[in-house]
Order: sequence, then structure tokens, then C-alpha cells
Amino acid sequence: MDLLSHSLAKVKPSPTLAVTAKAAELRAQGRDVIGLGAGEPDFDTPDPIKEAAIAAIRAGDTKYTKADGTPALKAAVIDKFKRENGLDYKPDQIIVSCGGKHVIINALMATLNPGDEVLIPRPYWVSYPDMVLIAGGTPRFIDSSLETGFKITPESLEAAITPQTKWLIFNSPSNPSGAAYSRAELKALAAVLLRHPDVLVLSDDMYEHIVYDGFEFTTMAEVEPALYERVLTMNGVSKAYAMTGWRIGYAGGPTRIVKTMAKLQSQTTSNPCSISQAAAVAALNGPQDFIAKRARAFQERRDLVVRLLNEAEGISCPLPDGAFYVYPSIAGLIGKSTPDGKRIETDLDFSTYLLEQESVAAVHGEAFGLSPHFRVSYATSSDILREACTRIQRACASLR
Ligand code: PLP
Repeated sequence: MDLLSHSLAKVKPSPTLAVTAKAAELRAQGRDVIGLGAGEPDFDTPDPIKEAAIAAIRAGDTKYTKADGTPALKAAVIDKFKRENGLDYKPDQIIVSCGGKHVIINALMATLNPGDEVLIPRPYWVSYPDMVLIAGGTPRFIDSSLETGFKITPESLEAAITPQTKWLIFNSPSNPSGAAYSRAELKALAAVLLRHPDVLVLSDDMYEHIVYDGFEFTTMAEVEPALYERVLTMNGVSKAYAMTGWRIGYAGGPTRIVKTMAKLQSQTTSNPCSISQAAAVAALNGPQDFIAKRARAFQERRDLVVRLLNEAEGISCPLPDGAFYVYPSIAGLIGKSTPDGKRIETDLDFSTYLLEQESVAAVHGEAFGLSPHFRVSYATSSDILREACTRIQRACASLR
């Protein structure tokens, strides 16, 4: 009898967490490593949110809650969807889970049967394909490129849909490219989906609030109300409120799907941490002005990083509309050799060279399904970013 599960054999550990771990390991050996791999804001959770958590502990909110979220947090989520997205949900259409990641795996496990396909635009957030595999489905990819602004088109979506398509996982602004879809672009994709009534949409809106240059965020169920019945709108407090460690994500969507997700959650994790839920209520109901202020800080860093990376030989870096990542192309470096004679054939070769030569940790594009690129997270200080880009420029200039 095999020791390990066959269904997990094809699943890879998260490469972004692996890069962060590798950077920490080198740092522990005394190397001056700059980590550009982390997908979390460097800002702290705002004080009023922390205070709400402390008050919750003092008030004895330290027991099990309803498995799919406290009534107070569900009410705050319902208000948020109404206020920010114009979406109406009832409490049995809402689930609160242990982070956005948990919402997504719940949704896939609640719905996928063997043979079901899940469409994932490339480049994708690293966890989507593996979560589909864990849930017993088959990931299928829709390609984009730097030339299409890392966006899929109505034509590429139409061509990818088959009778087996169960979900489209849609992420705007995108991790890793930062690409964000306008209302008109969403409307054009929605027109395709309207022709395929069996396809569900998982709208991953985690980066909703991190958008630049006045970009107006919209989400699929809002843009096309005719899709409301088959869109699961997913979001969370991790990125907007700098609450990655608190592990609260949530979604609104079709009652049957949400109830099945809640059933699964009741038999697996039970409720998300009661204290984190109290903190999330304070986040969603409290003052929101710091979010835009932080987005402006991210925008300055984006501008800095894009400018400095474009000054590096062989790198081409587009200007993204949102999230806190850039996804430059290194096509101009492929085929060159490092000072000690190693040829750069893949983006993994390049990120390995960056780490070894200049102690800069960034994630190679293959991990996100589109090469030759690498992802830089600019959720760190401008001084560190300036130093990192200087090192990247030096690494590129040393290639022959
Ligand atoms: N979706 C995207 C696109 C993300 O980048 C992330 C986190 O990196 C998540 C979902 C998951 O967020 P959480 O930390 O709340 O699980």
C-alpha cells in the first residue's frame, strides 16, 4: 500500500512561499538578501483593527462561532458588497473562510467532479492550477502575453470553453501581472459567458483596492447582472487591510454553492478564528481612507520599479494598473551567459543567477505559467526597491 495520496502526487508546493523560504535561509547564513517574492503589503494592520481584536478577546469572543462566519461579519460583508460593488446578497449567500485561499479551495471542492475543467488565464496566481488538481478537476489555460497587456480576449475565452468547462477563474487586478480589466473589457468577456450558461465564474477580487492612475475597479457580477446567478465573488481582508496573517477571506454567490462550501467547511476547519472575524468586522465597517493612501504609496513604488527595470539591459517592464507586482519580460536576456559561463536558457536560470550573483530573490515566470518573465513584488520600501533594481541592472549588464 502506498504511504502517500495519489491525488496529491501532481500537486506542487507553492513556489512563491519556496522563494521566500530560500531568501530567509540565505539571510540566516549571513547573506544580504533582498526578498522581492512576498505577496503581502509591508504596511502594518491599522491600530483600530488590532484594538477590535483585543476587545474581542477581552469580551470572551474566544469560542466557536457559526462555521461559515459570525452574523456580524456576514452583515459587514453584505454591506461591503452593496456599498463598493452594488451587489445584493442575503446571509445564506455569504461564506467567511480562513483566507481567500480557503474560499477558493472550498468552492472548487464543493463543485468539481472528475472530468470537469477549470479555465485559468495565464499568467496565473500560482495556487489556482494546484487547487483545481486537489479538488479533482482539470486545469485548462487561456494564454495572454505582454502584447495583449496580459489580458485574455473574448476570442481566446470563446475558443477555450468546452462542454466540460465548469469554472472560469478570473483575477483582476492580477497576481502576477498587475493587469486590471476595464468595465468595457469585462462586459465583452461577459457577452461570451452569456452564450455558455453552464460556465460558473470565480471572480477573485483580492486586489480590488490596489489600483492606480484613477483606474475604476469593477467586478463581473456587477458589470453583467445577468451573470449574477453563476458568479462567486471572492475577496478578503489580506491585501486591502494588510491582514495577511489574520486569515479571513469571504465570498458572495449562488446559495446552493455557498451552502455546500459551508457544509465542507463545517466538516473540515469549522469557523475561521473568532478573534480575526471580530477584527475583520472592524476593518470592513471602519474608516476606509487609509486604503487609498496606501495605494498611492504603492503607485509611487510601481513607478520607481518600472522605470529602473526598464533601464536594465534586456528587460522590458510594462506599467500595470493594479496589485503590487510587476511582471517584466527577460526575452532580451535569453541565450546570454553569466560571468562564470552559465547560459541563461529559462527564467528559472535568470532568477537563480539573480539570487546567487546579487542576492535578489524574485519568482521566475514559469511558476505563473508564462515565460520568460519574472515577478517582482514591490510591497517593500523605496530604498530597498532602489537597491534591488540597482543589483538587477548590474546582473543584467554582466551577462554576455
Ligand atoms: N488570490 C490572489 C490572486 C492572491 O494573490 C492571494 C494571495 O496571495 C489570494 C487569493 C489569497 O489570499 P489569502 O492570503 O487571503 O488567502
